[in-house]
Amino acid sequence: MNKEKSCTDELLAEANASILFIANRPQVVMERGEGMYLWDTNGNKYLDFIGGWAVTSLGHSPKVITDALLEQSGKLVNASPGFFNKPMVEFARLLTSLSGLERVFFGSTGAEANESAIKLARKYGAVRKNGAYEIITAKRSFHGRSLATTAATGKAGWEHMFAPQLPGFVKVPYNDIEAMKLAITPLTCAIFVELIQGEGGVYEADPAYIQALRTLCDEQGILLMFDEVQTGIGRTGTMFAFEHYGVMPDVLTLAKGIGGGFPLSAMLTKEAYNLFEAGDQGGTYTGQPLAMAVGLAVVGEVLQRKLPQQAAEHGAYLLQKLHGIKEQYGVTGIRGKGLLLAFDLPEPRGAELAAACLQAGLLINSSGPSTIRLMPALIVSKAEIDEMMTLLCGVMDRIFKDVALLD
Ligand SMILES: *Cc1c(COP(=O)(O)O)cnc(C)c1O
Repeated sequence: MNKEKSCTDELLAEANASILFIANRPQVVMERGEGMYLWDTNGNKYLDFIGGWAVTSLGHSPKVITDALLEQSGKLVNASPGFFNKPMVEFARLLTSLSGLERVFFGSTGAEANESAIKLARKYGAVRKNGAYEIITAKRSFHGRSLATTAATGKAGWEHMFAPQLPGFVKVPYNDIEAMKLAITPLTCAIFVELIQGEGGVYEADPAYIQALRTLCDEQGILLMFDEVQTGIGRTGTMFAFEHYGVMPDVLTLAKGIGGGFPLSAMLTKEAYNLFEAGDQGGTYTGQPLAMAVGLAVVGEVLQRKLPQQAAEHGAYLLQKLHGIKEQYGVTGIRGKGLLLAFDLPEPRGAELAAACLQAGLLINSSGPSTIRLMPALIVSKAEIDEMMTLLCGVMDRIFKDVALLD
């Protein structure tokens, strides 16, 4: 046994013994990343189409993040949430001007940004709508793993998780405006939806649905809140997915790609909903200078390199490649926007395919039994897309040979 291998075996034995179990993880230890690639402790190289879970917008360990961390950490690591700091103000200026929403609250995770949105909606209900507190969310949605966002999530099987759940969430089928109208009562303070249900399997909202939600919210005086934790910051081919719909939300949440891998999230809203009073909301790391400097650098780079446009172009290229293998492998339901794409396999063998791809040096995500989701860094090139297709087809030839022959 070589030295690297025995060292990895020791690390894995330790990991399996000391890390609290939350998921079946593959038996590899990641060590290094660069651009579209990751390397494990055995020196194996992986082409990454999971992208840190739609997070590493600029690829792995980009120089802009290293530089921003170096510079800011030499100046100020943490002043305290009780003070403003310079990168906080600069980043707020950038996000508010990009989104058209005037106010921002910073957090560290998507769940935290969504918790803030939920609290703001309840505050709005309390002070402007006779104590209304119900928030309508969609079935098959995902909003996070804190207790409130678990209750807001509409994924099948999550209804009774960690009971008793936080009350006040009403779930309706996605893209069904009649069901939404029926669910609104005098207790409703907000509607909270994703524009593409990412964790649910990459299902897009219909433009007419989102436009009808805007009208409905305006008529009823309730907040329209978009969870763009996964779709925001260039992922779908525009800076924000709401741009595809021509609909402005009252509240917008961002995380994942905004920090390029650094823990960072934001909740944005209009001046009209700048409603928190002192003590209502906070957090030790809100506006943390290192996170602010990284966010500023990452979003600045996404803008400067026109990565949303590139995501649109390269996403269209990838879609076309996927359509090209439809017949060969019996692939269906090819869908998504920009670089948030998915397709369905003819059999529920997604986990098996993802595991075989890992062995072959390709990282892809199986977001459901038959669903494969692709969410590479926004910097992915056409050559890397070609490389991914070659690896993927090689694995599918091997493990789905029987299926291909049947077809
Ligand atoms: C990932 C995700 C979240 C949760 O974000 P965390 O950073 O894991 O807390 C919330 N909403 C959507 C749409 C997501 O994709």
